[in-house]
Amino acid sequence: MFSASCNAFSKLSFSIITSKNVCPTGIDIRNGTQLECINCTACIDVCDDMMEKVDLPKGLIRYASEDDIEKEEKFKFTPRLKGYCAVLGILIAVLIGMLFLRNDVEANILRLPGQLYEHKAGNMISNVYTFKLVNKTVDDIENITFKLLSHKGTIKLVSHGTFKVEGQGLAEGTLFVEVNASALKGDKDRIEIGIYSGDTLIETTTTAFLGPRSYK
Ligand code: SF4
Repeated sequence: MFSASCNAFSKLSFSIITSKNVCPTGIDIRNGTQLECINCTACIDVCDDMMEKVDLPKGLIRYASEDDIEKEEKFKFTPRLKGYCAVLGILIAVLIGMLFLRNDVEANILRLPGQLYEHKAGNMISNVYTFKLVNKTVDDIENITFKLLSHKGTIKLVSHGTFKVEGQGLAEGTLFVEVNASALKGDKDRIEIGIYSGDTLIETTTTAFLGPRSYK
């Protein structure tokens, strides 16, 4: 909270007027802490400048606790503060860890709503998907292709063989996954798809693959 030493106000009213004039929200800090304050600290700076010019101690307007103002108690690093610092430290460590561990690409591949599977030549089963790729880096990712990692099969992109995602960009499209029916374990398998930039695997994702029901 802000504090101000009242006995100094009479001598330094011009200083406060200056600090009031500098306040972007027009607050008169002599009335104490107010809701409109945006904590820009402009009044603290201008008041300290003026106190320096008139050769008086700085800190007339400052952050202080009630105990500091009333009992003139100095700041203490209490167990509660230590606890808050520990929690803050853990949160910062988690945030830094997440920043380092995050993938450069986020991939979502989902079956097209309302579509079942399709029989193709050679006992192949085909499912149609839409995909979204988000490039979280500032560099373009070139020559993107999809490969089926969990099953033997093929992935065919609609309209293009490879494509690129611009830095901080998003790519969307449609693709077909074809798997031989003999490789399916049931009528709803999980398949794993790898996203490659050239020969480099940049992300993997899983999705559902529908096939015919087996009544064995
Ligand atoms: S901190 Fe900024 S907004 Fe708050 S009283 Fe001072 S000058 Fe005004």
